[in-house]
Amino acid sequence: MNIDIEALKAQYPLFNRLISLEELFWTNPNLEKFDTAIENSPLSYEDVKQAEERLVRFAPYIAKAFLETAKMNGIIESPLVKIPSMKQSLEGDYQQIIGGDLLLKCDSHLPISGSIKARGGIYEVLKHAEELAVQHQLLTFKDDYSVLDSDRFRTFFSQFSIAVGSTGNLGLSIGIIGANLGFNVTVHMSADAKQWKKDLLRSKNVNVVEYEADYSKAVEEGRKLAEQDPNCYFIDDENSRDLFLGYAVAASRLEKQLKELAINVDEGHPLFVYLPCGVGGGPGGIAFGLKLIFQDNVHCFFAEPTHSPCMVLGLMTGLHDQISVQDVGIDNLTDADGLAVGKPSGFVGKTMEPFLSGVYTVSDQQLYKLLKKLVDTEGIHMEPSALAGMIGPVKLSKDDDGVEYLSKHNLTEKMKNATHIVWGTGGNMVPEEIMKQYYQKGFDIEE
Ligand SMILES: *Cc1c(COP(=O)(O)O)cnc(C)c1O
Repeated sequence: MNIDIEALKAQYPLFNRLISLEELFWTNPNLEKFDTAIENSPLSYEDVKQAEERLVRFAPYIAKAFLETAKMNGIIESPLVKIPSMKQSLEGDYQQIIGGDLLLKCDSHLPISGSIKARGGIYEVLKHAEELAVQHQLLTFKDDYSVLDSDRFRTFFSQFSIAVGSTGNLGLSIGIIGANLGFNVTVHMSADAKQWKKDLLRSKNVNVVEYEADYSKAVEEGRKLAEQDPNCYFIDDENSRDLFLGYAVAASRLEKQLKELAINVDEGHPLFVYLPCGVGGGPGGIAFGLKLIFQDNVHCFFAEPTHSPCMVLGLMTGLHDQISVQDVGIDNLTDADGLAVGKPSGFVGKTMEPFLSGVYTVSDQQLYKLLKKLVDTEGIHMEPSALAGMIGPVKLSKDDDGVEYLSKHNLTEKMKNATHIVWGTGGNMVPEEIMKQYYQKGFDIEE
């Protein structure tokens, strides 16, 4: 696409920072009141509820096929924990008081695939499997879905294939669940995908195709190949409504966890949520679900690497998926797996535009420092991308635009009652040796 960089510089005050790869904090001028935003939304509460009910139908199968989920009766969910030592350490390091409590949502520890992709990715495969089985009269909504964990069903599903383009984690989720059901799964991996992820998938008989190019190219090629095969279902991370809804189910689960911790969210007790963003489906779906529940009392921010700020670029310019970071001279090279995306989902950008409070960017160096700090203070291990949310509470309180956001929404005085949730999106499946290297990098940067 032909982009007039000079015009963008003149029009958007933060554009220079963006292309200079400096960290920035952007507040969304198109944020609307919840009531207005939901009226014009292509998705509703009813859509999310249906996704939630589908996951309940599948729970007996999940519990049987993945033993680690049995104690949660086949519901794939992660802990929500307070991280007071991390909060104290952040406040000291960045010389900034964070009003209220700091919590971490540990999607890094989601069962089955150890990342946020165990929400949307698994959901979409389950929905597709259900549609096929019901269509062929092998299953009804009233059945006990544990029957799916059987040779009879695996033989049935082996006639069908599933394909997906991925930087790694989505491929892991789709590959693991798809192979377990019996599908032929092909994962089209971008150049940045880690070797151990490819190895793990191949060990589960998943077909891994490797590309020299970035994520958008892997998706494009995967989509093209899948279109040639009528029995192949392509999971389109750039446009999928089902992925989005699978992620959105997280919100009602989180509401329950907040109640269990006796944490109130209401007009006097605002909730701030910081979500690492790649193509947008994961953070978008979760933020959408949270807005449905907490409405104007929740404030959602996306976090992107300084080298892959695709969502903020698309939202700021209003060009969504018609502009990529490469178009404005940014290289899309980051160690943050899952976030190395040059072009955002147009569907997510447009759907979330009236609901999203803002987007900020964070450098890779910062991610490694935060990774080490989380280990040192709380003993929790996550992968670099999962730390992108961690600096959000600092930036919101410190950056001029963050301070202005708080005052504009009458939040300044309420911050002592605030709850900040950092969405920790991945890490549990990272091999120990690689995790040690991540920690060491954080150590070296601190020195
Ligand atoms: C995929 C991923 C994200 C972001 O999800 P998108 O749907 O691509 O925006 C964040 N963190 C991790 C670890 C991921 O794998």
